[in-house]
Amino acid sequence: MRGSNNLSLILRTSRAILASDVLRQRVHSVPPRLTQAARVDVLVSRATHATPFLSAAHDFYRSYCDRTGTGGVNACWSCGSRRDVSTHFFCASCGVILPPSPESNYFEVLNMPPIYDVDQDDISTKLRTLQLQLHPDRFSSKSKEEQGMAENQSALVNEAVAVLRSPLRRAQYMLQGAGIEVGEGHEGTIEDPELLMEVMEQRMAIEEADGDEELRPMRQHNLQQLEESRKQVSAAFADGNVQEAAHETIRMQYLVKISDTILDKLSST
Ligand SMILES: [Zn+2]
Repeated sequence: MRGSNNLSLILRTSRAILASDVLRQRVHSVPPRLTQAARVDVLVSRATHATPFLSAAHDFYRSYCDRTGTGGVNACWSCGSRRDVSTHFFCASCGVILPPSPESNYFEVLNMPPIYDVDQDDISTKLRTLQLQLHPDRFSSKSKEEQGMAENQSALVNEAVAVLRSPLRRAQYMLQGAGIEVGEGHEGTIEDPELLMEVMEQRMAIEEADGDEELRPMRQHNLQQLEESRKQVSAAFADGNVQEAAHETIRMQYLVKISDTILDKLSST
């Protein structure tokens, strides 16, 4: 059991990064203390970053803005000034916190170019800056609505960071933007017989593996395959070959599942 504490810490951390589904799960109820306007913001921001390109969420938000005369989705709720991507969080004119814009995607939220090879250091810098700007302490003297907007913005930033940091979720997100669903529940069948064999063989080997000694090399091999897959997805996106990116992303999904299985088994030995 030597080094098992370190190993389990690494495993827990890796699992937290890989457990994309957990991050995607949303709380069903809206906090009751929020006013009607803030409740709508919560619902819209949930709908929006659950399915960022879903036009229904946009239409819903627009109709809310029309009904309440708040100047439309691209205007500040307080002074009516136009908002754009560069003023995603705060109004450029009056400085108030703004609700998440249903028109922004995660790249825009973090003000980054919409490419697969995102700069991970830049994501960390943006996260630190935004966490400070949106910290609840800065809104303690503001209205409940504004506190709700800051909370929603903060949740959106965390979601954007989680998606853009994960090679798999980032690929799924970009494909979703291109109209191709390959995420949870959309895997379809493995059409590639070689991939099918590979997945089945690896699953069987993991099942039969006896203890850390046998599982660790499998983990190493799996990590190498994930890295190769990431490079393939990256090259496909760089070439603008969305179909190839989708094909390789499906492979990555299976590799991540294999990774989960190995980590499960490692943590239970
Ligand atoms: Zn304003």
